[in-house]
Amino acid sequence: MGVKTPSYMVITWGCQMNEDDSRQMGSLLEQMGYARASDELDADVILLNTCSVRAKPEQKMSTRLGELSIIKRDKPHLIIGVCGCTAERQGAALLRRWKSVNLIMGTANIYELPSLLARVKSGERVLAVGLPERGGQAPQVSVERAGVQVGLKEFVPAMYGCNNFCAYCVVPYTRGPERSRPADEIVREAAVLAAHGCREITLVGQNVNSYGKTLPGSCDFAGLLERLNDVDGLLRIRFMTSHPKDLSERLIDAIAALPKVCEQFHLPIQSGDDEILAGMGRGYTVLKYRSLVDRLRERVPGISLTTDVMVGFPGETEEQFKNTLQTIEAVGFDAAYMFEFNPRPGTRAASMERQLDHKTRIRRLGELIRLQNGITIQKNRQNIGREMEVLAEAPGRRGGGMGGFTRGGKMVLFTASPETAGRLVKVKVTDGGLTGLSGHMVTP
Ligand code: SF4
Repeated sequence: MGVKTPSYMVITWGCQMNEDDSRQMGSLLEQMGYARASDELDADVILLNTCSVRAKPEQKMSTRLGELSIIKRDKPHLIIGVCGCTAERQGAALLRRWKSVNLIMGTANIYELPSLLARVKSGERVLAVGLPERGGQAPQVSVERAGVQVGLKEFVPAMYGCNNFCAYCVVPYTRGPERSRPADEIVREAAVLAAHGCREITLVGQNVNSYGKTLPGSCDFAGLLERLNDVDGLLRIRFMTSHPKDLSERLIDAIAALPKVCEQFHLPIQSGDDEILAGMGRGYTVLKYRSLVDRLRERVPGISLTTDVMVGFPGETEEQFKNTLQTIEAVGFDAAYMFEFNPRPGTRAASMERQLDHKTRIRRLGELIRLQNGITIQKNRQNIGREMEVLAEAPGRRGGGMGGFTRGGKMVLFTASPETAGRLVKVKVTDGGLTGLSGHMVTP
């Protein structure tokens, strides 16, 4: 009987940054000879990579840790690790609470995974957390993606951390100060991905449009997009997230001019009321935000705009909430990620007075979602009759057709053969709803 190849599983709850971190962990484990496990009962190493921006992922992680602890009773060699923002935030407390956990690995320690695992195997319970100082370097990323299959679409980190300290947000505490990756490294990674069949990249970072500020002599984000636009084989470039206070005219010009950069912009507004925005420490007013939207729409006609909105920030009055509803209606976003304020320990907002009760927050969130859903449907239906470029990805779940996304980031289900997968096709839109569009292919 042959020796079983050790296997791993990385379970992710979180944002694009967490997803990309999980991919890096997978890549490192595969370089160490691990294979991806299809089932957690089969895995020798299980890493839980959890975001702590909202409370839900942390709750899910606790439930899963309880289940894994039971599995570990019959399988003592199982290595359980907790990684990501939650590991960074809760650190030693997690090790104390969960005797089954062998490794706590913070967001800046991912690249130490091989040596950390070696310590675990020698019997240590390892705590590896701690963020770099301001002005520190971005971690050295393996651009080769050894062992990890390259998909049609991939996330590429452009920068890590954030210097903004919005009152409600844990990111600066869990991911540390802003650090940009060198442009040469990002371009090389994009070229490697394109050579392996990737056609669309999404540059990710907490505030991509302040890219380059921490790297002396670096290009800015517009300059990075210009360089990526020249990468052979790449068809589309997207990015997220952007902060309105750092959105430059140069970046708007770059989106307008560069053919591979998609006409899509995710610009978190958070609130439609100036006092609440000031309390959040966002650094812009509603008027300023709306002038940016006008400028984007003027320079990039047809641009798809999405946003993040939070309701129930401490002290938010009914009138201030109505201001948000009015602003959301007036701007007319294509889609929005909507949340109720959730006090995250350690942030300024968590200790603010006049916290709103859960019932009020949920009621406001419901109103906001109803409003935005109507706008999204209306926006999607405006595309009926248009022919749109779609990157065909995979067969749709129903009806045997294909699925893909427009340049504006709208999901489309359409009739076409599976052989179109990986190609840009023209689709005539025949219907639109809350989740996206449907239609049929008009040109191969
Ligand atoms: S910009 Fe504000 S909300 Fe966004 S990651 Fe930084 S601190 Fe958090």
